[in-house]
Amino acid sequence: MPLIENIIRPDVRALSAYHVPDSAGFVKLDAMENPYTLPEPLRAELGRRLADVAMNRYPVPSYAALKTKICDKLGVPAGFDVVLGNGSDELISIISIACAKPGAKVLAPMPGFVMYAMSARFAGLEFVGVPLKPDFSLDKEAMLAAIAQHKPVVTYLAYPNNPTGNLFNADDMVEIIRAVGDTGIVVIDEAYQPFAQSSFMPRLSEFSNIVVMRTVSKLGLAGIRLGYMAADAALLAEFDKVRPPYNVNVLTQAAAEFVLDHADVLDAQAENLRAERAKLATALQALPGIEVFPSAANFLLIRLAAGKNNADSVFSALLDRKVLIKNVGKMHPLLENCLRVTVSTPEENQLFLDALKASLAS
Ligand SMILES: *Cc1c(COP(=O)(O)O)cnc(C)c1O
Repeated sequence: MPLIENIIRPDVRALSAYHVPDSAGFVKLDAMENPYTLPEPLRAELGRRLADVAMNRYPVPSYAALKTKICDKLGVPAGFDVVLGNGSDELISIISIACAKPGAKVLAPMPGFVMYAMSARFAGLEFVGVPLKPDFSLDKEAMLAAIAQHKPVVTYLAYPNNPTGNLFNADDMVEIIRAVGDTGIVVIDEAYQPFAQSSFMPRLSEFSNIVVMRTVSKLGLAGIRLGYMAADAALLAEFDKVRPPYNVNVLTQAAAEFVLDHADVLDAQAENLRAERAKLATALQALPGIEVFPSAANFLLIRLAAGKNNADSVFSALLDRKVLIKNVGKMHPLLENCLRVTVSTPEENQLFLDALKASLAS
């Protein structure tokens, strides 16, 4: 079709669309969602709050009340502010656009979160991936060499990492942050912070070149699309120029403010999921031919043995049993025969374990 060829960038035409599988009727354990909802009285109260929102008005783009609440309730250190995004996906996009000087590069360990590379390329930046070690720890020497060679304007470190689930060594991260110096920023992506209980947020004032990015998605609010990032005020002010002015809608603002007033409910859910993660890991470890990797997130990465019960056949056997997890085995050579499963309620975890056992036996 000439029109498409005439107007659409060749690199965009070559892409396949981001695929989200239809999950109706499945036990859905593929997307790191929190399985719990709010207790009934809070749901009713939230409904009343949302009914009062002025949907006929544009959002007030400073988001002052919500930002103050996020800073107070979610551990942003005194003296630091946040920029809000329509999910952290949008924050990644904002960072990419703001830093897309001609010839600039973005760097991240691989395997990692796919949006770092996608967003960089959309903004016209070159993406450099540096393989992790086979145990998924940072290859510090390779990272330092790549930083010296490529001088990336943005380096992403997910803490903990997705899809591997582990926390990188904090001292290695500090060496990387120092090596980047004032030639780039290091974005520490703490999407799974509620399950990790380890964070660079309290260390913001130690480094002028870090951005600590988080989201409420994995905490139980994936549907409202809200991410935030904290950094040095001057740096945040530059990112804020690129942000679409009304990027966080009024319903999201109202819902987030309400839920943050009841943050103890979400904290209790996260605590529960951490305990379930330990139980699920132990149960999986006991199965023949399954390796479970350490996780500080709300998912577990497992490796299947090669042969009859490899990742592809177990993944499709689980689908036949109406359990949807994520087959990451083809994402990167280091993930060969690996599957990723979200930690859920005791009931759903048991359904997954039963389906997995049956799949291994069939
Ligand atoms: C899920 C995830 C995100 C995206 O979060 P949203 O706020 O839902 O856009 C960002 N980073 C990592 C590492 C993730 O796993």
